[in-house]
Amino acid sequence: MDKPDKREKLKELYLDIRDCQRCGLCKSRTKFVFGSGSAYAEVMFVGEAPGKNEDLQGLPFVGQAGKLLDELLGSIGFDRSEVFIANVLKCRPPGNRDPRIEEINVCKDHLMGQIKVIDPKIICTLGKFSTQLLLNTDKGITGLRGKVFRIDNHIIMPINHPAAALYMPSKMEILKQDFQKIKKLLDSASEVSDSEQDISSLEPEDNQDKDEQLGLF
Ligand code: SF4
Repeated sequence: MDKPDKREKLKELYLDIRDCQRCGLCKSRTKFVFGSGSAYAEVMFVGEAPGKNEDLQGLPFVGQAGKLLDELLGSIGFDRSEVFIANVLKCRPPGNRDPRIEEINVCKDHLMGQIKVIDPKIICTLGKFSTQLLLNTDKGITGLRGKVFRIDNHIIMPINHPAAALYMPSKMEILKQDFQKIKKLLDSASEVSDSEQDISSLEPEDNQDKDEQLGLF
């Protein structure tokens, strides 16, 4: 897909889904949060769901976690306008509760449509929900973060949600290191590091990190 097409296709997708009523969250949302950034982004970040500020503004990652994400992007030479930032759910769950499986199941087509249009080289999943969705696994984020997976023509790298680093300072340094890894991956996207694993090696397991669910946003 050439450049003008990507922008137009993404706009078409937005217009198609902005009034979505596939799940009950359409009733409580203030604004639908499509995502933001470049249709030509090489790196895409996928979080969990809009929070209060996102719901009010219709933009992803505009609170404290968004500020941290901007700083982390800056540390590897990116402005947020150069990447694409989206969530698994496009509407805010009331009280910032965790997304429900039935909501994810009906909303995921929107995210998949965005990935198909943007076709990024690297998709960074932020936290448990986007990681489990895009890797099709039951594994928790703790065992997956920082690892690199190749699915179709995308490199997928799970990292902690920035909100988790805000609430758990021990995760901040890890997050900073993971962003440096994103930069290296992008610089050599076709090279496979020793740590790279194929999704076929993933086996479902009980979630060990329930306490670390990242519904903090
Ligand atoms: S959360 Fe997703 S599926 Fe539910 S109403 Fe919003 S856009 Fe539609």
